[in-house]
Amino acid sequence: MAKLDFYEVLGVARDADDKGLKTAFRKLAMQWHPDKNPGDNTAEAKFKEINEAYETLKDPQKRAAYDRYGHAAFENGGPGAAGFSGDFASSMSDIFDDIFGEFMGGGRRGGGGQRGSSGGRERGADLRYNMEITLEEAFAGKTAEVRVPTKVACEACSGTGAKPGSHPKVCTTCDGHGRVRAAQGFFSVERTCPTCGGRGEIISDPCDKCGGSGRRTEERTLQVNIPAGIEDGTRIRLSGEGEAGLRGGPTGDLYLFLSVKPHSLFQREGADIFCRVPISLTTAALGGQFDVPTVDGGKTRVKVPEGTQTGKQFRLKGKGMPVLRSSQMGDMYIQVAVETPQNLSRRQRELLEEFETVSSEENSPDSAGFFARIRDFFGGT
Ligand SMILES: [Zn+2]
Ligand SMILES: [Zn+2]
Repeated sequence: MAKLDFYEVLGVARDADDKGLKTAFRKLAMQWHPDKNPGDNTAEAKFKEINEAYETLKDPQKRAAYDRYGHAAFENGGPGAAGFSGDFASSMSDIFDDIFGEFMGGGRRGGGGQRGSSGGRERGADLRYNMEITLEEAFAGKTAEVRVPTKVACEACSGTGAKPGSHPKVCTTCDGHGRVRAAQGFFSVERTCPTCGGRGEIISDPCDKCGGSGRRTEERTLQVNIPAGIEDGTRIRLSGEGEAGLRGGPTGDLYLFLSVKPHSLFQREGADIFCRVPISLTTAALGGQFDVPTVDGGKTRVKVPEGTQTGKQFRLKGKGMPVLRSSQMGDMYIQVAVETPQNLSRRQRELLEEFETVSSEENSPDSAGFFARIRDFFGGT
């Protein structure tokens, strides 16, 4: 029997794009589906033909081979001999994946979870959005603009998936129950209705705008209030801001995962801020002062008394981070590190050597006491 041209089978032009192919295929597959034409051998053959044509043309390589060699491309030993087994059961399941995966499951394949008593009302997926903010932003809090690509209910069909003016029809195979009974010998076996995939209804006239899924992708902009004092790793849940549900199912949630960028000057521990400040030997010995920035954007003056040692901490009360949902404030700690002079000139060396000759144990009591203990340890006097 001479095979019909695949393009003619689908009723499309030879330069039809993927979308055109898919639309044509869906329409015909719905029309010639064996469950809609029980006992009709012509319909079954037609259905197989449509499926084979679509399987070939949707694959760019097979399509190229077909365009070049025609049906010969797929005959034994042909250039693109991927072959069609003609196994009806397998092409049936492909069709169901395709129709129900795309139509009913919103492009989600292989997920059987939505089939059941919910009647196809599937909860929308939760979304995750990662956001990085600065320590200053965590201090002040901010209103952040979040742009999320998400699935929203199609306005054209109000999320039903059926073309406006048409309605999903009650599935005639299962009378809307979503399950069918079949006799097997003495037993009666109940299984998910193959026609409607358990939903109890059929969309015979899918909405053009959303292809029958009842949803479409849109980038949404949300204003999110980030409270002052938020910690690194905080998760904010925005209830109902996730993906739209399927056919009236509940909406998912949006989770905002916040991370606070490391700061070049400050380390944060809870509500407290630590700032390590290296000071010169002379500032440490003679005393002095310096300005440090604060996390609120201001600055504060720190006075260093004479004889300040490395590791000394100065506490600036209330200059830390706000405590989340509270009027309390943490503190800021200035940690001083004395920097030993390096790269000395000859003159500096002379001055330090002279300084040493006029120094006594009183100038470095800690060091003097320590070496006295070492002498005792070795039994000296
Ligand atoms: Zn729609
Ligand atoms: Zn059914």
